[in-house]
Amino acid sequence: MIPVKFDFLFETQKSVVKLLDNSFKKGRLVHTYLFEGVRGTPKLEAAHYLAALLLCSAETKPCLKCPDCRKVMNGTHQNVIVVSPDNNVIKKEQTDNLGKEFSLKPMDEKSRIYIIRDIDKATMAAANSLLKFLEETGPGNYGVLITENIHNVIPTIRSRAQIVSFRQLPPQTIADRLTALGVEEETAHILAHISNSVDECLEMINDGKILDLIELVKKIAESILTKEKSPLLVLHEEGKFLLTEPDKRIHNIFLDLMLAFLSSLLYFNLQQNQKIIFRNIIFDLVDYQDLSPRQIIERMEKILDYKQKLQYNINIDLFYAEMLLAIGV
Ligand SMILES: [Zn+2]
Repeated sequence: MIPVKFDFLFETQKSVVKLLDNSFKKGRLVHTYLFEGVRGTPKLEAAHYLAALLLCSAETKPCLKCPDCRKVMNGTHQNVIVVSPDNNVIKKEQTDNLGKEFSLKPMDEKSRIYIIRDIDKATMAAANSLLKFLEETGPGNYGVLITENIHNVIPTIRSRAQIVSFRQLPPQTIADRLTALGVEEETAHILAHISNSVDECLEMINDGKILDLIELVKKIAESILTKEKSPLLVLHEEGKFLLTEPDKRIHNIFLDLMLAFLSSLLYFNLQQNQKIIFRNIIFDLVDYQDLSPRQIIERMEKILDYKQKLQYNINIDLFYAEMLLAIGV
């Protein structure tokens, strides 16, 4: 396990940290928490923070320096058990094992904490075994259930836990994290706009397709601004990969990127430069911009219509021909 760091948690989820700190100080921690929030929010880190609070051997807890804190952060503390999906499923065998482990007397007087990741992926049998375990769990035992899809968590489990919601990260925070990891600045802003998870952005970069899409949108954007070439021609010259792409999600991302370009243009018009996503292209082609805010909004509305049409059976060539003609002029 990679050592857990808390900087990102402290930076982005102040209210969660405060809730855990205060509940701990006042002796009001509940025995089962359900941490929920979109992908990329530091829920696992927060679960380890709670473990450090409970296990720290220093005066001011958590000190993040004592042997107990360090073991929690390194994932080697014997009183902290993390259960992750096995082949995308939390199985009954896993929750049964947890129950068995916790039915034994603890090795020391300290608390024990179990963390179950992606609890929404528990099978019905696993959920029932967990519910039985929750009923029997003794004092000193704490659980954190983690999910990105709270609506898929079985209601009986939801109702047994205190729900703690993690704040979605603002795009700027994600972009900053990405640039800190070496992603080029404009790309970081574009990615942060289409995903709210740093991990997902990095996966998209590794996958490669997204960078090709961004390049294609930039070229089409350039042709719309300079009017030197028809956007449709650019698509056929540079975007063959898109025209043969069977995955509708990719087409959806392409349309989102086109919208992001137009909204950048709009923000430029409205002099809200900090909101501009396609920075390089907007500032490089500053002399070419003669679309009024009204014209930009009309084009955005057209793309939104085409996003709807994407749900149906469509001929991709025809679809883009119509759309680019509608927004090109
Ligand atoms: Zn400590």
